[in-house]
Amino acid sequence: MDIDTLPMGEDRNAGLLARRHAAVSGGVATATGLFADRAENAEIWDVAGRRYIDFAGGIGVLNVGHRHPRVMDAVQRQLARYTHTAFQVMAYEPYVALTERLNALAPFDGPAKSILFSTGAEAVENAVKIARAATGRPGVIAFTGAFHGRTALTMALTGKVAPYKRAFGSSPPDIYHLPFPAERYGVSVDDSLKALSFLFAADIAPAQVAAIVLEPVQGEGGFHPAPAALFARLREICDLHGVLLIADEVQSGFGRTGRMFGVEHSGVQPDMITVAKSLAGGFPLAGVVGRAALMDAVEPGGLGGTYGGSPVACAAALAVLDVFEDEELLARADRIGDRVRTRVAGFVGRNDLAPVTPPRGPGAMVAFDLVTSHGGSTPDAAMAKRVAARALERGLLLLTCGLFGETIRFLAPLTISDSVLDEGLDILEASLSLADAA
Ligand code: PMP
Repeated sequence: MDIDTLPMGEDRNAGLLARRHAAVSGGVATATGLFADRAENAEIWDVAGRRYIDFAGGIGVLNVGHRHPRVMDAVQRQLARYTHTAFQVMAYEPYVALTERLNALAPFDGPAKSILFSTGAEAVENAVKIARAATGRPGVIAFTGAFHGRTALTMALTGKVAPYKRAFGSSPPDIYHLPFPAERYGVSVDDSLKALSFLFAADIAPAQVAAIVLEPVQGEGGFHPAPAALFARLREICDLHGVLLIADEVQSGFGRTGRMFGVEHSGVQPDMITVAKSLAGGFPLAGVVGRAALMDAVEPGGLGGTYGGSPVACAAALAVLDVFEDEELLARADRIGDRVRTRVAGFVGRNDLAPVTPPRGPGAMVAFDLVTSHGGSTPDAAMAKRVAARALERGLLLLTCGLFGETIRFLAPLTISDSVLDEGLDILEASLSLADAA
């Protein structure tokens, strides 16, 4: 059945939803029962013709918005030449040009080299492979609440059991977790570092550890920034023991935090970063950017993949980087973040609204939690879910996250206009209203 032959109306979504449930594995969740028809910058229309303001950005992929004209133009020009050769068969200039741009942006001193993949999980998995090859060591340390992907290795690194790990059998060996320091959950930097010294005493010698992996701002875990003091101490410990420090910038990268990479807020230089999501403005592309000496540690053929660094996605990414410069999106991220934080701060303590925590997070990587009482800290995941559902009814796409699902996160395009942003924030406020709860 061709969807365009159906009359407009809600049954278009319902009809597709029934087909989706019949045909698509139940293992993939969808936050809404809606189906996309078209999208433009920070707005998306469903197949029933209804408009939604997009505060989800395809889970942090659309920092330059849906279908940015510069990205569309670059992709179209690439489509007219070739769409795939496999970099391993016949290389192409857009891949090289993009790695040159990424190397120049690398948040560390000294020469950098990069390699491209298709998904964030692939990037993290390959960063671990590079670290293991470069150090000759097996161990990898990650943090509770972290999200690094759903492949077998990245699932093991991910610090959340349900729904990511519990059905999938034994974990690959040599992966360890430290408690992530989040004030919200009563864990300090000292607590994390104490756990690290216990880990070195009880489970694995530091000389057996290849890398420590962490998100500069935890994404799925609730937009908790890794404190600068943690980064600084981890850097010292890594230097002392020859361990590599990997910053997973898949969600925090490409301007979301007001800097090109979230780790730049800490002043600490990692050895590798992983990139994906907003790198290519909606096209599947990921990469590892690392210190040049490390990036050559693997023998030719040890890394790669048929689609890694698709020329179409590389063309999109080169345009994305131009858009960042020309539209000054890093400064824009800070201005958007200020606007969001000011509004959310005004929701705190209001008796007519569901209780929320103050906003947190750098730049436009802003989130807040729903809690059971004003000034309290007990998470209210059911209310967060209800707020997202109410927002959707009013035409706003909102994503939740957090260890308990209590967090509302903000991932709107950095190209969003002030008027659409304010319209979205008005809907958010209305969706928090208790008057509406009955
Ligand atoms: N790392 C981080 C920090 C992420 O946020 C995600 C995706 N949410 C991933 C890795 C995995 O990326 P992908 O879904 O593209 O495999």
